[in-house]
Amino acid sequence: MTGTFVGMPAFPAAARDALADTQLRHNLAHATATIRGKRAAVVGEVEHWEALRLAGAAVKERALHGLEDHLVRLEESLVARGAQVHWARDAAEANALVADVARRHGADEVVKVKSMATQEIGLNEALAAEGIAAWETDLAEMIVQLGDDLPSHILVPAIHRNRAEIREIFLRRMADVGRPAPADLTDEPAVLAAAAREHLREKFLRAKVGVSGANFAVADTGTLVVVESEGNGRMCLTLPEVLVTVVGIEKVVPTWAELDPLLRLLPRSSTGERMNPYTSTWTGVTPDDGPQEVHVVLLDNGRTRALADEVGRQALRCIRCSACLNVCPVYERVGGHAYGSVYPGPIGAILNPLLHGIGEGTGDPQSRSQVESLPYASSLCGACFEVCPVRIDIPEVLVHLRSKVVDAHRGDRVPKPEALAMRAAAHTLADAKRLGRAERLAGRVGRLVGRRGTTPRLPGPGAGWTDARDLPTPARESFRGWWRRTGGRLDGGENDG
Ligand code: SF4
Repeated sequence: MTGTFVGMPAFPAAARDALADTQLRHNLAHATATIRGKRAAVVGEVEHWEALRLAGAAVKERALHGLEDHLVRLEESLVARGAQVHWARDAAEANALVADVARRHGADEVVKVKSMATQEIGLNEALAAEGIAAWETDLAEMIVQLGDDLPSHILVPAIHRNRAEIREIFLRRMADVGRPAPADLTDEPAVLAAAAREHLREKFLRAKVGVSGANFAVADTGTLVVVESEGNGRMCLTLPEVLVTVVGIEKVVPTWAELDPLLRLLPRSSTGERMNPYTSTWTGVTPDDGPQEVHVVLLDNGRTRALADEVGRQALRCIRCSACLNVCPVYERVGGHAYGSVYPGPIGAILNPLLHGIGEGTGDPQSRSQVESLPYASSLCGACFEVCPVRIDIPEVLVHLRSKVVDAHRGDRVPKPEALAMRAAAHTLADAKRLGRAERLAGRVGRLVGRRGTTPRLPGPGAGWTDARDLPTPARESFRGWWRRTGGRLDGGENDG
């Protein structure tokens, strides 16, 4: 599988750079607070929200339990309705399948409806290498693409950009790739949207091949579902002659009826709307209506690895609503790029390690260290679990993955500073005399620090810890010392040394 956004530094380094960008923090704080407020209002309207969450989680859990059977059923249903089904083990296979379809139709461009799966596999770059241009048609995706940028949010990929920046990107780049932006373009949202509409229209009408993702795939009927807010996706799904849908295998739900809780949970959790403005469903090929050749690429790319992880597999329930991003205090300050993946925020912190695997020797050392840094990109406050519409216990998975990272490095020839510190602690705590000596030493440090009145900073690698946190001043006297001195009497007084 690809390391999405290969070349990014590990989370702590990327986060440090992001924190220095005050414009970014301002844009993020404003956008996430707005979405949080909208979500809270519409969730509050639902009397039995918790029951709905439980129902949504149960549907996804059921789907994952019988995944193999549901996928076979999905394939049968799709083929029966005239679609061609392909299985892709990894990004390379999926990209090759899409490129092959485009090439066979002589297409040097495709239009795309927002699809995280295709971003995950780096489809645009793979198609570009074959001389095929992939045009993003979701407004936020288009802004990211025109700005030669990376998405930083699941739902609002350009959340890190403000209106003035978007206007500047449109003026600077639209002319290079199609219809230019009007010279009198302002940064009014309606004016920006109108410019995007004009720019995209000629692409929709020209493209022979459309590429989409899918929010859900119904096994019983072979129906694929895309929900969106703008209608651009529906243009992609209906205008081209050929449609290729790349869908992660975890998107399957067994029956049509089981879409019910998911389609109620998703819009309220994501955009803070009661229902999605556009819900498109299509099933294979319908003569004289929409694309007359439909391909469905069922993508693994690490999902079976995630499924094999008994604690982590719940991450595959994710319906990509992004609610966990909008409440995460870490995400709100550093934004999505610091996570180095198309899946940022709390869900990215667990999904990326689960898809890539920890300690399996996969990937180059840089992407490996990036992936392994992600389970630590959280304060474990639990806000992500509280809002998750399918009740993914992200903190539980984070802690589980942290333990896997530690286990993966037990045999390292050069141990990490934390491992050295833990070894030293284990050595000291294993022997009462050693512990006594350490306590006396700590007491002396405590007395010294008490006189100076400053909080100590650790030297060497420990400085990274004290740079961001206060080190508690060691007690001047250990409990055992106090007990020896006072015999456990509370009026024994303090030994000031
Ligand atoms: S983990 Fe839950 S809250 Fe986060 S994006 Fe997925 S479904 Fe939404």
